[in-house]
Amino acid sequence: MLTAQVVKDWARESGADLVGIGNMERFEGAPLDSDPRYIFPEAKSIIGLGFRVHRGLYRGIEEGTFFAGLPSMGYANINDVYAPIALRGVGDLLEDSGYEAVLYQNTAVRYGTNRGTPVREGYPRPDVFLHFRIAAYICGMGEIGWSKVFLTPEFGPRQRFAFVITDAELEPDPLMEPGTLCDGCKLCVSNCPLDALPAEKAVTIPIEGREISWSDMDVERCSAGFASATAEYNPFLPDDFAEGIEKLRAMPPGPERTEMLKQYGGAWGLARNTPYSTAGWESYHHPGAICGARGCQRACFMHLEEQGKLSNKFRRPFRIRKPWKLDV
Ligand code: SF4
Repeated sequence: MLTAQVVKDWARESGADLVGIGNMERFEGAPLDSDPRYIFPEAKSIIGLGFRVHRGLYRGIEEGTFFAGLPSMGYANINDVYAPIALRGVGDLLEDSGYEAVLYQNTAVRYGTNRGTPVREGYPRPDVFLHFRIAAYICGMGEIGWSKVFLTPEFGPRQRFAFVITDAELEPDPLMEPGTLCDGCKLCVSNCPLDALPAEKAVTIPIEGREISWSDMDVERCSAGFASATAEYNPFLPDDFAEGIEKLRAMPPGPERTEMLKQYGGAWGLARNTPYSTAGWESYHHPGAICGARGCQRACFMHLEEQGKLSNKFRRPFRIRKPWKLDV
């Protein structure tokens, strides 16, 4: 018989570090264009697969000497190689048991979400965008931190996800109580090079009677900052991009900033078009991750490790030396 435990054991066998299961009712209240129940209306369960990002992949950025590890093995490899293999493994088990498996890979969104025309009255614009952090919460795998990065009890912010939507009815995992991992220390806010995380302004949604909140992140600042950081934290950044990023950090969202960004191809252009990211894109179809998630991940996991909140324990603390910063 196909039980939740059988699926979880098989998912781990297939390569997932983390597995959680949610029921589709938990998506009640989701915006139409982000409601996965429209992908498979008969679905009963969603299965979340989590893949750790090794702490060592932040080491080279922490030391300022090797920046390629995180984007290549921490993002591209998991998104496009490792997670798809595990997804297929779980898909095989479900479909060999007579159930259907919709395999939703991280980078599937690159085809463009919500850009198509609805095919039926009242239907969403395809492709439906599956909000991975909310889906991971719905699968009982942890909680969304103030940083808007998902936190698990095993690795804190250090993992990536993929999901399977299926008509197999499986026992759902309990939801985590908000504040179990994230204590609102706001180190993510103070350590973000682009000031992308407001300290107070929140986004809040209801899930099964709980209020789930995270910071109302400035997505443009984050998408440029994640890949390119700022001149102080990017040894590869050409001056013209440094100037653009400085303006992005200084200007509030609005038409003036949008106008300013046009010369760089938008915030994504500041992320994607630097020589470093262009090389990464050609090789891994992924930009750089020069920031090394200085606030939302590094500061966060160091804090959670210090508190002993994570089950993945290390023999030494992550930060060994005074952090480097370029004098610009
Ligand atoms: S650094 Fe981590 S624990 Fe602290 S507020 Fe941000 S997300 Fe929460």
